[in-house]
Amino acid sequence: MKIGAPDKAPSSIAAAVTDFLKAPKMLIGGTSCDGEAGSFDVFNPADGTVLASVPEASEADVDRAVAAAGATMAGTWGSMSGAGRTGLMLKLADLIEENGEELAQLETLENGKSIMMSRLIEVMSSAEYIRYMAGWATKIRGETLDVSIAIPPGTQYTAFTRKEPVGVVAAITPWNFPLNMAVWKIAPALAAGCTVVLKPAEETPLTSLRLVELVREAGFPDGVVNVVTGGGAVGAALVRHPGVNKITFTGSTETGKKIGVQAMQDVKPVTLELGGKAPMVMFDDMDLSLLGPAAGIGIFLNAGQTCCAGARLFIQRGIYKEAVSVLKNIVSSLPIGPGMDPANQINPLVSAKHHAHVKGAIDKGIEDGATPLLSGEAPDAGYFVAPQLFEGAGAQSALMQDEVFGPVATITPFDTEDEVIAMANDVRYGLGASLWSRDINRVMRLVPKVQAGTVWINSHNIPDQNMPFGGFKQSGIGREHGSGALDNFLETKSVCVAYS
Ligand code: NAD
Repeated sequence: MKIGAPDKAPSSIAAAVTDFLKAPKMLIGGTSCDGEAGSFDVFNPADGTVLASVPEASEADVDRAVAAAGATMAGTWGSMSGAGRTGLMLKLADLIEENGEELAQLETLENGKSIMMSRLIEVMSSAEYIRYMAGWATKIRGETLDVSIAIPPGTQYTAFTRKEPVGVVAAITPWNFPLNMAVWKIAPALAAGCTVVLKPAEETPLTSLRLVELVREAGFPDGVVNVVTGGGAVGAALVRHPGVNKITFTGSTETGKKIGVQAMQDVKPVTLELGGKAPMVMFDDMDLSLLGPAAGIGIFLNAGQTCCAGARLFIQRGIYKEAVSVLKNIVSSLPIGPGMDPANQINPLVSAKHHAHVKGAIDKGIEDGATPLLSGEAPDAGYFVAPQLFEGAGAQSALMQDEVFGPVATITPFDTEDEVIAMANDVRYGLGASLWSRDINRVMRLVPKVQAGTVWINSHNIPDQNMPFGGFKQSGIGREHGSGALDNFLETKSVCVAYS
């Protein structure tokens, strides 16, 4: 079923979703299977009920998935042309759209997010992302190189480079944008000619399991995309597997460090997309009518569970009082409730564990001396937290330094450009940032001083498939999106030809 109008609640859960939830399976080498290690439960964050029982992969399942990915890399898939890969990817994008409503409902059920976001971001933008990357599959190219070697005398040389797929990719994803994050990894890997073993987050494996069914339906050779489900141990088994040639990971900085250590031990290429604590810097001359999207999209999108969420607001003294008052009104009026009703803008957090983490961070903030500005109530059932703004958080306090990954932001006043740039950069992360001003001279002067992989001007938290995305500092290594995303999955081979 194609997606419904983004702002309309579904009249009921689609029959295909209810059916799928009865027995979701992993996909290894083109065959649906259960997990040798048993199964685990996936919960609905809106009410805490069990949604489905999902296969738990064993180490042997991981072995089989890597072997299947390696076999087709050496066979059918490895010899397929770029045009062949493009065709299959375009078919997959069509299938995602054709099954868009089911995928969107599944995502809202397992993650809790607004059905509007599931439809627009998880489904539609994933389909567009695959189409964008499909176009690159036929445009992979090396260079011809003049070389100066003259040994033995009289011999001439010319050289060229070939870009070759790196091989079997381990793709490990987080729970905050489950389908989208899986596609951000699978699409460029397939365009580059690689095969994939995907390990989705244990909180939200369902849309990834449905995605690989569509991969099979699209006609990809068996083993090109495999999925194994389970917790961190399954991810770790995949990362250290000798048959894996490349690791691409999105998740927390803490897990990213462990994966990075293992990858370096095995001298394996690794891309890390990690946490953030983005600053939003608002100057006296900003357009105050932008405070609505700044709050709704910049800070509280996905209940603050976005890696680029503007968790630290810095507001210049001249507009400080007015802007804080406007923000308080906006944030306190954001409707809280289950994501199946698109009118609700603050939806539940993903899990009981994460709910406890966010509540703990709020309590610690208060204990450390920050002042909460709002007194909103959250529904009792499910994993809801009312959005919160804090004033007076200490620069080195946990609230200012650590990723909360929930609907929580701090507000700090400032006077000068130099002062605010120092405060904005005073954190170990460097994923996203934004500057809000009508003065183009000021903006252009400050962009080079901001330590972040993306700097938005008069907007925040808007990624695009054509715009490189990734982190400075402890927010990661490497970039996704854009033509450069393919380089993450390509090796460069120099070929040197002697002639006389
Ligand atoms: P997480 O690090 O807890 O888990 C991410 C994935 O890693 C899961 O699939 C998990 O099972 C797996 N994993 C856990 N331990 C592992 C290990 N030792 N070896 C291999 N895999 C292991 O992160 P999360 O809580 O699922 O996601 C939230 C985090 O993701 C936040 O920090 C957020 O900022 C970050 N994130 C970053 C980006 C980005 O593009 N930079 C995008 C989305 C989310």
